[in-house]
Amino acid sequence: MSESPAAHPLREITSYHAHVYFSDDAARDRAGWVRDRVAERFRVQMGRWHDRHVGPHGAPMYQIAFTTDLFATLVPWLMLNRRGLSVLVHPNTDNPHDDHLVHALWLGPPLPIDGSRLPKSLRDTGGAIEVINPNTLPSIDPI
Ligand code: ZN
Repeated sequence: MSESPAAHPLREITSYHAHVYFSDDAARDRAGWVRDRVAERFRVQMGRWHDRHVGPHGAPMYQIAFTTDLFATLVPWLMLNRRGLSVLVHPNTDNPHDDHLVHALWLGPPLPIDGSRLPKSLRDTGGAIEVINPNTLPSIDPI
């Protein structure tokens, strides 16, 4: 019998990212709509808009970084309002590789992620745990 692995405790997750992808001009317009609607509803750290693919991401996108308490509202909101776009939701732990490739969830069709660009541990790269600094001022209750 093989040894059972230890379960990951939830405290490994310090925050989450949602990456909203777009491929053409029509999708880009919808991605802008989603971005504006999220910003007026959720206190998140809205990342820069990338018209070219960056890092491990295989398509243009922007990132929404958010604290763990928002998961139960922001993720269902994106489920209902992603307007056909692919969205990668991943936890942030000490292991960016597994965060993106093993422990992530996709809304819509999955896109390629280049795992060779993601470290197995932040300690390997001298990286620090990301602190979320919200930069949106929501005025609409998402409920
Ligand atoms: Zn991310």
